[in-house]
Amino acid sequence: MKKTIHGGTIELTVGDITLQAVDAIVNAANSRLAGGGGVDGAIHRRGGPAIMDETRKKYPQGCPTGSAVISGGGKLKAGHIIHAVGPVYRDGRSGETEKLAGAHRASLELAKENGCASVAFPAISTGAYGYPLHEAARVAIREAANFLADPGSVQLIRFVLYSQDAYDGFAKAMEAIEP
Ligand code: ADP
Repeated sequence: MKKTIHGGTIELTVGDITLQAVDAIVNAANSRLAGGGGVDGAIHRRGGPAIMDETRKKYPQGCPTGSAVISGGGKLKAGHIIHAVGPVYRDGRSGETEKLAGAHRASLELAKENGCASVAFPAISTGAYGYPLHEAARVAIREAANFLADPGSVQLIRFVLYSQDAYDGFAKAMEAIEP
């Protein structure tokens, strides 16, 4: 599924984000940038140790929740990895929405600053961090659409969903926004 918004494109696909041939892929990282399971583990496994070596050197303090940092792509096809830190979901009233939106905005800003035309996101916070998928999808799609309203290098924002269920949740959020 694809939608053109303000001259840019938001695209949804089911797949593995580590295999995406885009300028930057976004990692669902933790605030210590320590690696872990889920999409984070998959990115570091396929991308090799150079990624963690770089983030340890450049960001010894880690990255605050709701923000993002950038590294090279190691052995991945993508030239950059943007390590975004989404919130752990508690009760929906603990600033989760703003932090999830912030993680998306910061990632897109870094993509723009680094001249990327295409960026792929996973469904940040919807795995181990427990964010309800439909709510996370609404936040992610809204931030992507808002970002495309400001002209910049980014032309394509692709959400790479790991299951048909996740895809369906994002598709519903996408249908709700203006073309
Ligand atoms: P978080 O800790 O932010 O919740 P997770 O990695 O546990 O991060 O999960 C985030 C989302 O990424 C989940 O929806 C999960 O199904 C999905 N996911 C896991 N592995 C991959 C992958 N290789 N490509 C794309 N999405 C993935």
